[in-house]
Amino acid sequence: MSRYITLADGRSLKVECLSCALTSGLITPTGGTIYESTNFHVHQDVAYPIRGLVILASKRHFYSMDELTSEEQIEYIALIHKIRKEQRLLLGIDKVYYFYNEDTTHHFHLWMVPRYEWMYQFGNSVESLRPVLLHARNNMNDEENMKYVIEGIEILRDGLMDFASNSK
Ligand SMILES: [Zn+2]
Repeated sequence: MSRYITLADGRSLKVECLSCALTSGLITPTGGTIYESTNFHVHQDVAYPIRGLVILASKRHFYSMDELTSEEQIEYIALIHKIRKEQRLLLGIDKVYYFYNEDTTHHFHLWMVPRYEWMYQFGNSVESLRPVLLHARNNMNDEENMKYVIEGIEILRDGLMDFASNSK
């Protein structure tokens, strides 16, 4: 199913799959790519301006966990582990919520959403995720917070720079 997306520069683009467009480099996410390998692409969706939020997407177009190849399975867990470690070390993130569903309109991707103190007003568990994301999108998109979020992207990018050499 193709859909239209609007780029930051105002251009409108028809894409079959937003994840394919992002992971192939057709679209550059705001703040840029955090990490990229043959199999995976790491970025943030600044439409939800939460510092340290990370989206880890496969480069191949598929939907389900059981479709990961053996090589992808190994890199996937190593990459999640590395991202999580840098979130803790570099951004002081104490807890993370992981969110992934197979009936997505994008392809295979994992959300890693840092858990901050302000989020508890929306509940304690998975039911709070959507309200938290909407709150961020609607109330936290000011210039100051956006700068803070972009800085978080840059810090994580630096932190992930040595991952490729370790994993190969
Ligand atoms: Zn795709």
